Amino acid sequence: MDATTDELDDPQAPFDLVVRGGTVVTVDAQDRILDGDVAVRSGHIVEIGPDLVTGRAPAARTIDASGCAVLPGFVNAHMHECMERGVFEDLPFFTWLEDFALPKDRAYEPRHQRAAALVCQAEMIRNGTTSFIDIFRFPHEAADVTAQSGLRGTISPQVIDDPEEGAGETLATNERFVEDWNGRHERVRAWFGPHSLYTVRPETLRRMRVLADRHGVGIHTHLAESRGETALVAERAGGLSPTRWLDELIGLGPDVVAAHCVELSDDDLELVVTSGLGVAHCATSNMKLGNGAARVRELLAAGATLGLGTDSVMTNNNLDPFEEMRQAGLLAKFVSGDATALESATLLRLATMGSAAVLGVADRVGSLEVGKLADIVVVDLAQPHAWPLFTEGGGNVVEQIVWSMTGRDVVHTVVGGEVLLDRGQLTTLDLVEIGDLVDREATHLLRSAGVLDFVLDRHRNG
Ligand SMILES: [Zn+2]
Repeated sequence: MDATTDELDDPQAPFDLVVRGGTVVTVDAQDRILDGDVAVRSGHIVEIGPDLVTGRAPAARTIDASGCAVLPGFVNAHMHECMERGVFEDLPFFTWLEDFALPKDRAYEPRHQRAAALVCQAEMIRNGTTSFIDIFRFPHEAADVTAQSGLRGTISPQVIDDPEEGAGETLATNERFVEDWNGRHERVRAWFGPHSLYTVRPETLRRMRVLADRHGVGIHTHLAESRGETALVAERAGGLSPTRWLDELIGLGPDVVAAHCVELSDDDLELVVTSGLGVAHCATSNMKLGNGAARVRELLAAGATLGLGTDSVMTNNNLDPFEEMRQAGLLAKFVSGDATALESATLLRLATMGSAAVLGVADRVGSLEVGKLADIVVVDLAQPHAWPLFTEGGGNVVEQIVWSMTGRDVVHTVVGGEVLLDRGQLTTLDLVEIGDLVDREATHLLRSAGVLDFVLDRHRNG
């Protein structure tokens, strides 16, 4: 329930939650870092400052964050809720796609999607992610799991209709999902999810824009990911670039999230910036698939709306925002030959406020500020890989978070004041149950797709 102004303003009302005594990295407009507390009432941050506890009515819940960094929850700007992790590695791209990825996608059933959503959301909570946007199969399952897990999810059914027997959702199932789930749950948004320009028909894309406007929802897709896509689109669209063609078909704008945007001409880059398109930079996936590096520094300098996405567990393989910040930083430094490219504070901002802006929710999440939703992550810095640690005046806390820490260092994940990870333990999902379920359902899925023997026999004789 949203807090009323009175509840938020009443200084006498007890807090629901106080995250106490940590180094608070706000990622606000001034990039303030301070030692102190973050207080929560009715799902919102109501105060940030030193000692908010002494002389006050006791809070319903206190989290001891001494020795910890307190961060805004991370936002994943592009991912797929699938579970085929570590099973189709090191294959040539078209072998991977045609012999494994597509048969597996065609074999997907709702039961598999439920298991995949559970394991992905468990991992995201474990790693400090509080909001995500996905694109995959059977969206009702993913939406249902999101309602249960406590995360904020934007669910986009992955529509593939070219060829017709494609391994995806259809325009009809996507629209039905939007009708069912749009406005149904405060933490779940239902969007349109055309897979790409090369797997969805132009007339479907045009129709999606009409429907997205009618329902007041956004569109999430892949764009300009590879040189192969650029060549294919040029052939089909009379020499147009993918970015130009997508603009012609759906009209790029702030309500469109495009993953990758690696292959951008100067003209495309200008269009991305002026349109307000949300770009999800997926550094790890781009490297793993050998697709190159997006022009991140130029996009940032030009004022593009830019955030970070992990992409799927097939092409990453983790849903870890810390790892994604580090890979984005390494890639930018590597391709530019400039060690100053994408400094630490910029990377942290991309993974929080940047991704929140991509999803169009930067007014509500992405930073620790009074009035924003209480999406908060506590990271244990009392560990050898975070030493030496200097906290005075901000010290090297941001540098340690970006370059030295991982998702496994997260001890508390809070969404809207609800503690979803408590001292490293999930509170809304059962990890033991999910582990068994995923093994069972992944086995069933790979067997149905006719690829289980490949996975089991790959190392048997070698
Ligand atoms: Zn993707």
